[in-house]
Amino acid sequence: MAFSESAPPKRRVASPPPTDPLTRAEQLTVAARALRAAEHICIFTGAGVSAESGIPTFRDALTGHWARFAPEELASPQGFADDPARVWQWYAERRADVRRALPNPAHTALAALAARVSHCTVITQNVDDLHERAGTSAVLRLHGSLFHIRCSAGCAGRVPAPDDAAGDVPAGGVEGIPRCGSCGALMRPDVVWFGEPLPMDAFEAARSAAIACDVFLSVGTSNMVEPAASLPWIAAAHGATVLVVNPTMAGQRSGPSILPIEGPAGVMLPRLMAEAFVGRRVRRQDPPSPR
Ligand SMILES: [Zn+2]
Repeated sequence: MAFSESAPPKRRVASPPPTDPLTRAEQLTVAARALRAAEHICIFTGAGVSAESGIPTFRDALTGHWARFAPEELASPQGFADDPARVWQWYAERRADVRRALPNPAHTALAALAARVSHCTVITQNVDDLHERAGTSAVLRLHGSLFHIRCSAGCAGRVPAPDDAAGDVPAGGVEGIPRCGSCGALMRPDVVWFGEPLPMDAFEAARSAAIACDVFLSVGTSNMVEPAASLPWIAAAHGATVLVVNPTMAGQRSGPSILPIEGPAGVMLPRLMAEAFVGRRVRRQDPPSPR
């Protein structure tokens, strides 16, 4: 059907011309160039980065004694109300898993990257402390931290979790669980549970950074669990170059500003840093001390 002459012209959106996919070496070169030119980088990490340090995922940890429980029995407000000592035991073991682990080359490369760009926002979906132990400060935590606890009745504030290095429930079961200094309710892990929203302040800060950044570096996440999954695509929609580092690109979006870097983060990120900054002056940080 022809348009009448008085009809406003239609905006035509041309599909991008077909191009050959870049080789891995070309991808790294393009990604490195983007990192060098960036003034504000967002780093966004998921479970894959922790897995490369040997930290089991939530579901992978559901073995042995824990295999009989549904995830919701260990990580939901109802599960906590039903058996708070069981939930504390679960999280004590998760903290023990993390204490046994060490930052891997991906954490180290990301800390080095954060130290050398003028503005870097580090956002994680992980609840361990490996970014901090690798030397990254100021991490925006979308799912909270294993190493903090807060009031289960909703009082504001968080305090460090007890140093339960042995992986035991505080002595005395429920009687040993710390209580809120304000209201007396049981303290709970400061992590996001099934059925709970992400912390709004952290998510809004992450969203603002995604909108403002030049390069958004997504590492070790399939980007399929909303709302966090939308952050890379928000960044792309606002003009950022999005680098996706993951062993598989299944489930990831594609587009002209999205650059896949397929492989383990602990291998690909050091390569990327070498490509971007080799021979250039690095602002050194003190090496992390093992814990
Ligand atoms: Zn309270």
